[in-house]
Amino acid sequence: MYCSNCGEKLIDDSVFCHACGAEVHDGEGKKTNAFEQTSRTNVDMAYSGQESKGTMYVVFGWILFGLTFAFFLCQAWLPIVCGIAAIVMGYFIYIYRSKPHGIVLMALALFGTIFSVALGHLVKMIIYRSLYF
Ligand SMILES: [Zn+2]
Repeated sequence: MYCSNCGEKLIDDSVFCHACGAEVHDGEGKKTNAFEQTSRTNVDMAYSGQESKGTMYVVFGWILFGLTFAFFLCQAWLPIVCGIAAIVMGYFIYIYRSKPHGIVLMALALFGTIFSVALGHLVKMIIYRSLYF
C-alpha cells in the first residue's frame, strides 16, 4: 500500500502516512466507491433505457388506439387487432412507465375496440338496409 498524497510505502492498516501525515484511504474504500458508481451508472442507464422504451409504448399505444377507430368500417378483425395491440402497449406502459397511464390506455382501448366494432357493424347494417329495403 502506498500513500495517495506523497507515494511513500506505508505499513498495512495505517490510518495516516508516516511521511507526510496525509489521511490514508485504503483500497477497499475506493473499490466500494467505484463499484457503487458503476452500479449507479448501470441503474441510470437501465432507467433511461426504460424511459425511452416507455415513450415508444405511449406513442404506439395511442396510434393503435386511434387506428381502432380509423378502421371501424373495415373488416371487424382490423380494429380488434389494433385494439388488442393498444391494450398490450397499455400493459407495457403499466409495467415500465406509469400505472394510471397504462390502465387508462388499456380501458380506453378495450371500450374503443368494442365501440368501433359495434359502430362498424351498425353502419354496415344501415347501409345494407338502405340498399336492399
Ligand atoms: Zn504521504
